[in-house]
Amino acid sequence: MMASVLSLLMMILIALFLLLGAMSQGKKHIFSFDFGEEEELPEDALTVVIDAGHGGDDVGTSAKDGTLEKDINLAVAKKTASILEKQGFNVVMTRTLDATTSLQDRVYISNINNADIFVSLHCNYNEDSEDISGTEVYYMKQSADGDIFAGVMAGAISSNVPIKVRGTLKADFFVLNYTAAPAVLVEMGYMSNDGDAKDLKSNSFQESMAKGIAQGVIRYADELSGSEYSYAGE
Ligand SMILES: [Zn+2]
Repeated sequence: MMASVLSLLMMILIALFLLLGAMSQGKKHIFSFDFGEEEELPEDALTVVIDAGHGGDDVGTSAKDGTLEKDINLAVAKKTASILEKQGFNVVMTRTLDATTSLQDRVYISNINNADIFVSLHCNYNEDSEDISGTEVYYMKQSADGDIFAGVMAGAISSNVPIKVRGTLKADFFVLNYTAAPAVLVEMGYMSNDGDAKDLKSNSFQESMAKGIAQGVIRYADELSGSEYSYAGE
């Protein structure tokens, strides 16, 4: 009795795996939320997941004037995705709306799409000091790929964005630990700092942050695939 239940379960599991495999072969991005027209992608286009932190009920942190982290993350994520799509990447966003999205879903979306690169966007907050400001790039402890990617990302942001880049840091964040792709989490600036908060709200600052992050992805993609994605954007 027990054995037949188990073998039935095994068969269901195998069928599910086969189905998932067939789906992911037929269509590269089941969960992609593309905006704009579908463009022809190069055969070997790398898949980049852009993860706008928080969303919906989860507002993240906030500035004194009530600006919410989730909105800034999404604004910069959309701008970044748009640059990368123009550069020929297969871009997948974990959310394009102000929607509650679990950490598990974010990881699932990345892994089911066989992402080559994962970037999560956040804003920081320091409860002890309003003076602390700047960008930090986090990567998973013990990830050599993450370490390299974080360094490349920090360099690209520092050469494109008028903000102090505080450096790269190791962290145990869920989305870094469970995504299969090399992953970084960018804390773009401090909502607790008036200067950073003002910058993060400004469209032109968001544009340059998006450009910096996109260039970080492009530079790292060049390292992964041997200079196919030369960065044309200026
Ligand atoms: Zn956050």
